[in-house]
Amino acid sequence: MSDHTSSSSSPIILAVIALAAAGAGAYFYLQPAEQAAPQPAIVEPVVEPEPEPIVEVTPEPEPVDPDLIEESGDKPLAYDPYLADLGTRPDYNQLGIYQETITRPDFERLLTKVYVVGDSWKEWISLFDDRAEIRSNRHQPDEIFTLRFAPEQATQMAKLAPKFWQKAAELPATTIDKPLADLVIAIDPGHIGGDYAQIEERWYQIDDHCPVMEGEMVLVTAEIIKSQLENLGAKVYLVRDENAPVSQLTIDDYQAAAAAKVEHYDITTPDATRKLQERYLYRTGEIRARAELVNTQITPDLVLCLHFNAEAWDDPSNPTLTDKNHNHTLLHGALTKSEIAHDDERYEMLLKILQGVHDEEKEIGKAAVTAMSKHTGLPNYEYEKNSRRAISVDNFPGLWARNLLANRLYQCPVIFYEPYVMNNEEVHARVQAGDFEGEQEVFGKMRRSIFREYADAVTEGLVKHYAGERKIDKASQNLSE
Ligand SMILES: [Zn+2]
Repeated sequence: MSDHTSSSSSPIILAVIALAAAGAGAYFYLQPAEQAAPQPAIVEPVVEPEPEPIVEVTPEPEPVDPDLIEESGDKPLAYDPYLADLGTRPDYNQLGIYQETITRPDFERLLTKVYVVGDSWKEWISLFDDRAEIRSNRHQPDEIFTLRFAPEQATQMAKLAPKFWQKAAELPATTIDKPLADLVIAIDPGHIGGDYAQIEERWYQIDDHCPVMEGEMVLVTAEIIKSQLENLGAKVYLVRDENAPVSQLTIDDYQAAAAAKVEHYDITTPDATRKLQERYLYRTGEIRARAELVNTQITPDLVLCLHFNAEAWDDPSNPTLTDKNHNHTLLHGALTKSEIAHDDERYEMLLKILQGVHDEEKEIGKAAVTAMSKHTGLPNYEYEKNSRRAISVDNFPGLWARNLLANRLYQCPVIFYEPYVMNNEEVHARVQAGDFEGEQEVFGKMRRSIFREYADAVTEGLVKHYAGERKIDKASQNLSE
C-alpha cells in the first residue's frame, strides 16, 4: 500500500466515505491444513458474485414523510431507505459539468440497453428531444436535475466529458514491445482472505486437504498479472497487496448503521444487527474504502476485479465437489427496479453514462472474455433468459452487465472476471497443486498452474485490445521485423 501515488488527473466527483488505505498482517496463501480452522465454511451459491442481502425482509423501500426529515433538524436521518447501504446523498448539481456532452440517442441507448433492466427508469428520468429531466431526491418528488443533450448534428463538436481515465484511442503512440505504455491499471483482488476468509464465506475445505480460499487465490493471481503487465509498459497498482482489509474501520464502527437499518425494517432475528455489521465490514464498507482509494489516489485508466466463481453446496456441513465449471466476465449495468430507485445508485449510473465508460469497457470485455475462454477451455456461463439482474452485452458469449458495488463505484472502465468454479473437482486439484512454473500433470493432464493460466489470459486480452486500438510507432515496428 506504500506506492499509491496520484497520477495527474482531475478530481473525482463521487463522494464516498473517506477512509485511508491500510492493513496489517500477512497470511500464507494456502495455509497448511492443520493450521486451518476445523469447520468447513459454506461457499455461497455464487454464480452470483454479489449475494442477496442477509436481512430477511427484502426491503422495497417504504415512502418516508419528508416532514419527518425536516423535523430531525441538524441530526442526519439515521437510515435512508432511498440510498444504497452505507451510501451518501449525492449532489446532482455536480453533473452540471456534463451539460451538452452527450447526444440524446447515445444517452437513450445506454440507459435502455445497458444500464437498466426493463423500463423502470421511466419513473425517474423523462426524455425530451433536447434534455433529460432526472429526479434527484426521492424524498422530494419535485426536485429535478435537467441534463441538456449535445445537438445531434454537432456530435463532433460535443464537449469532451470530464473524466480521469483514458480510452485506448486517447493514449499516445507507443512501441510494438510496450503496447501498455502510459496505461495505469488498478488490480482489485476480490474479497479479503486471511483472517476474513471464513466470515466472508469465500473458503472451503475437503477433509485434510489445503483449504481453498478465494481471497488468497486472487492475490497470487494479481501479483503474476502485475509483473506481466509491467513488462508490457503499464503502471500497475494492487488495490490490496496482502490478505487484510483496505478499510481501517472495525466491526464496532458499523454498529449504529446496522442497528438503524434493522430498526427501520423492524427485523426481529436475534443476531440481525451483528450479521449486518459483519457484512458491512467485509463487503460493503470494504468495497467503499477501495473505491475511495481507486477514485482519489490511483485514478487508473482501468480496474481489473479478480474473482473465482463457485457453485452452491448441496449440504453445507459436508461439502462435496461439483463437475460444473465455467467462465464469464461482467461489465457494469443492469440496474434493477429497486436499485435505480436509490438516489445514489441512479447518480452513479449517470456518471458512467456521461463519461462514456460502457463503449470502452465493452471492447475490453470482449477481448478479455475471449482470451479467458481460449486459455481455460471453459464453457461460457450464461444467465437465464430475461434475467432481472443481468443483461447480455451485444449477445457476446460470456459477456454480461450486472450492477455490483465495485463495478459501479470505480469511476472508470472495470472488467470483473469470474472464471473457474472453485468447488469444481478439477479446480480443487489444481488449487492443491499450488503455483508452479512451466507445466505439471494435475488431475490427469499436463497444464500450467491455475494462477498463471488465469494471468496469461488477462494479459493477452488487454494486449489484444490496447495494441489494436493504439497508434504503434513505425520505427519500432520496423525494428521488430
Ligand atoms: Zn469472488
